[in-house]
Order: sequence, then structure tokens, then C-alpha cells
Amino acid sequence: MKKEKPHFEHDCDCCKFLGTLTLPEDNETSKRYETTVFDLYFCKQEIFGDTVISRYGNKGYEYSSGLRFAEEGEFGHPNLLEAKQRAIKLGYLPQFDHDCDACIFLGSVSYTKDSEEYKKARYKITDFDLYICPSGLNTLIARHGSEGWEYLDREYYELEDQVNIDKYPALAEARKRAIELGHLSK
Ligand SMILES: [Zn+2]
Ligand SMILES: [Zn+2]
Repeated sequence: MKKEKPHFEHDCDCCKFLGTLTLPEDNETSKRYETTVFDLYFCKQEIFGDTVISRYGNKGYEYSSGLRFAEEGEFGHPNLLEAKQRAIKLGYLPQFDHDCDACIFLGSVSYTKDSEEYKKARYKITDFDLYICPSGLNTLIARHGSEGWEYLDREYYELEDQVNIDKYPALAEARKRAIELGHLSK
């Protein structure tokens, strides 16, 4: 992504800038906010949870936010939907549905079909969302679809074994990230 600067002032240190979005003048969202330029952000918040933000002016209140509005349709906001899609692409938000509240998202991973990891892997899958579930046994999870059963999981200690690391590269990656982020001790 090219290096872009925000158009408006924004004072949250947690926010990650996702670039600007320019909409046509006659777009409904442009009319509603009286601007064609929107600065998009992803904000990782401990208390309120992750969110996306779309700023349309310099004043403190001149922004809209909320993942629940980041959808298509009557109540959706296209500027927030665009922010969500960019955040998913950058690995800040998961691409698949996952319904365990205890799980900590560790980012996504993507393997090309000619990568060593993909060739050695037991299941030929390219895209995963990675989690550690701290409830219980520190289970590592690699989700590859939004259906309930579309995930792989192993306990952290099973992933110290090279055979398992080769068979489940996404889970081994999840373990590595969990250690780096301090969710799992070595
Ligand atoms: Zn923020
Ligand atoms: Zn969980």
C-alpha cells in the first residue's frame, strides 16, 4: 500500500491508519457527512473491543465508528465497511466468523500453493485466522472458514514436535505468535 497521510486530525494513539477513501460527490454517504474524503482507521481497544473508524472532519466528534455498521444494506455504512475490509486484508481483523469469546486473535496467515509449508501440510488450505484459547489448555486454533467445524486445533505442547509443525504449519505459526505476544510461555 502506498504511503498516504490522513486528511483530518485524529488524536487516538491506538489507531492504525488504513488510508483514505474518496467517494463521488453524489454518493449518499458523501451527502450525509458533507465530504467526499474519509480517513479510515482500525482501533484496537482493550475495553470496548476492536473497532473501525471513519473520520470526516477535524472536530473531535466528526467521525463514525462501529463494526456493527460495517456492512452492506440499509443500516450499513459503506465507509466503515471499506475500513473493515482493509483491516481484514492487513490481518488486524479475522476474515472468518469465530464464536468463542475467550479466544485471542493472533492475526491471519496465508500460504501460497508453492510454499514449503503448504506442500508439507496435512490439509491443503491457504488462508487461516489464528487464535489461542486461554480457557483450559491454551489450545491453538487455525480457522479456515466460517462454519463451526472449519478449524484445526492442537494443544500447545503437541506443536513442539517437528512432525506436527510440518503437518500443521498454521498452528505452529499461531504458537510462535502466542509466545511472541506473551500469551504463552516457551
Ligand atoms: Zn483509536
Ligand atoms: Zn476460545
